[in-house]
Amino acid sequence: MNDTTGNLSPEQAFLATTSHEIRTPLNGILGTVSLLLETPLDPSQKEYAEAIRSSGSRLLDLLNNILDYARLDSGTSEIELETFRVADLAREVTELLSPRAHSNGLDLAVLTRPGMPPRITADAGKLRQILFNLVGNALKFTETGGVLVDISYASGNLVFKVRDTGPGIAPGDQERLFEAFRQTSAGDALKDGGVGLGLAIVKRLSEAMGGFASLCSDPGLGACFAVSVPVDCPQPAMTPSEGSLHGKRVALAGLPPSTALSAWGSLAAEGAEVMLVDTAQSAREDHPNVILVAAEMPERSLRAMTKIAPVLVVMRPEDRGLMNRFHDMGASGWLTRPLRDTSLVERASLAIKGDKASEEADREPAGGRVLIADDNPVNTLIARRALESAGFSVTVTSTGREAIDVANSIDPVLILMDLRMPIMDGYDAMKALRKAGKTMPIIAISAEINPEIERRARAAGANGVAAKPLDAEALRRLATNWTGREQGAA
Ligand code: ADP
Repeated sequence: MNDTTGNLSPEQAFLATTSHEIRTPLNGILGTVSLLLETPLDPSQKEYAEAIRSSGSRLLDLLNNILDYARLDSGTSEIELETFRVADLAREVTELLSPRAHSNGLDLAVLTRPGMPPRITADAGKLRQILFNLVGNALKFTETGGVLVDISYASGNLVFKVRDTGPGIAPGDQERLFEAFRQTSAGDALKDGGVGLGLAIVKRLSEAMGGFASLCSDPGLGACFAVSVPVDCPQPAMTPSEGSLHGKRVALAGLPPSTALSAWGSLAAEGAEVMLVDTAQSAREDHPNVILVAAEMPERSLRAMTKIAPVLVVMRPEDRGLMNRFHDMGASGWLTRPLRDTSLVERASLAIKGDKASEEADREPAGGRVLIADDNPVNTLIARRALESAGFSVTVTSTGREAIDVANSIDPVLILMDLRMPIMDGYDAMKALRKAGKTMPIIAISAEINPEIERRARAAGANGVAAKPLDAEALRRLATNWTGREQGAA
């Protein structure tokens, strides 16, 4: 149990242990329901399964918030500095939350404004938790439209703004929402099952880093929660004229507003001139070098656009199966929402050069053997089904010791390693594998993720860390991303 109870007082250790014990079966419920939802169900069965899923994930959010709040309250939360790319941190959070956004028809995107230094030094774990809470809230309260994570840097401060198109918050309610156990109305408590801890945690985390959290909103006009924290940056921002797309013209056609802003930020930072177009006629007048077209665009317009410049289709990950159709319409490639800045720039450059070399890779089905080391049979059942349905073959072990033996004999393309296992835990198994020269990606999986666990897992050899519960779609995305089976995807 030392991965959750290491530096805690007896009360906190009790809280950490009991919440872990509650989380394990809850993860089982959530994962199994995600599998159930992928089987044929009649409409009422689907509705009941969705209700189990949404109540379960609220319960899990609640548990996580209580634990975080207790940790902050006792002052055991120290500042852990590391140097990282802010865009990557925001991407991790939005990719985790995008299935929730897309299933509610909401657009979710990250805008990194030009002027952002390539890497900053700050407490990544705290910033991730802040974003997770703010984006989670924005998605919870927004019924139509979208959520934009707007990131900027000025005079030594990193500013995150999470903007939504939800109902907004009346001025009289705004100040006290940052206090613990505050909600705008009893109706909100009924609606989302929260207890009003999320924003109190955001405020405390921001202040622990020497910054502050604020809110700007009007009823009916959405909300914008902002967090500003002082950060160090080892290198200054690149100027757009040094960018790889300097002098190129990129048109955006039919993208939802948050995604269009996100694309603009990434392209402009690389020196591209970006324009919005709505018809093939207006695209022609703008002489673009490449066009990003929403998958929802009518087929006729999309075909017409391919005659003007290379077209990259922007789609939701769930629509990936349609790629062949877009290919037949003349598209050069595709990107998935939420857009990743690096893939967007890379794909746009390739398309401008007329490079279609990676197209076949786009069509290639996923594959390869994944090793799952986890002693919980419900978790492994979920992971096996999810990955097999995406074309991977799966081997399961239940101890770290077994994982080492199996990895030596089958040479998997990816290992998903639970951190808590009997006989040998995930940390020791990863250390042994790395010591033996194994270089395949290993993702550490844990019911509790905090900066200390993440640091230890990476030090033991993990390439990434993911929080349980991983539902079927999140698992597939993790596996395809880490095995590079999806080279055209953002
Ligand atoms: P909870 O766990 O209840 O969501 P929070 O502290 O995160 O607690 O939020 C407190 C309250 O603030 C919510 O119950 C809701 O009334 C309001 N709120 C938070 N974010 C938003 C938002 N993006 N749009 C509208 N209301 C919000």
